[in-house]
Amino acid sequence: MSNHEGGCLCGALRYATTGEPARIVYCHCRFCQRATGGAYLVELMYAKTNFRVTQGRPATYSLISAGSGKRVTINFCVTCGTKLFLDLERMPDDIGLYAGTLDDPNWWARDAARSKHIFFDMAQRGVVIPPHVSVFHEHVVSRTGEPQTCLMFDAPHCVD
Ligand SMILES: [Zn+2]
Ligand SMILES: [Zn+2]
Repeated sequence: MSNHEGGCLCGALRYATTGEPARIVYCHCRFCQRATGGAYLVELMYAKTNFRVTQGRPATYSLISAGSGKRVTINFCVTCGTKLFLDLERMPDDIGLYAGTLDDPNWWARDAARSKHIFFDMAQRGVVIPPHVSVFHEHVVSRTGEPQTCLMFDAPHCVD
């Protein structure tokens, strides 16, 4: 088993993960753009049993997702403002880790098989989507549970 650690900018909050992330989600939605202050969120999905906060106690901010109508809770450091992970009502057994908070953000393989890009329709200009990875206009399944169309590019695709 591979164990990895991460934490916030000021060091007050630390966490540990066990094993591989189950899925890797690149989310281009406006919520994630605003919450990260960047172009998109790189989110590693872990079973809650494979993730634990080892130091400090995160503050939380919850809101209702406009897309799913379900609660999304951001766990962050009240001192330095770093966001560490999301707790999602839609996926009660998992957490979504903000991948940039890992001590080594490059340990995990960027394999296309377990990666997906979602909310492609909102992706910022200049973002490059890699080839052979699943891309969805919005969510992978609709609010009523129907699978949505999956796009895939044969070459790197630059949003314009
Ligand atoms: Zn902090
Ligand atoms: Zn998002």
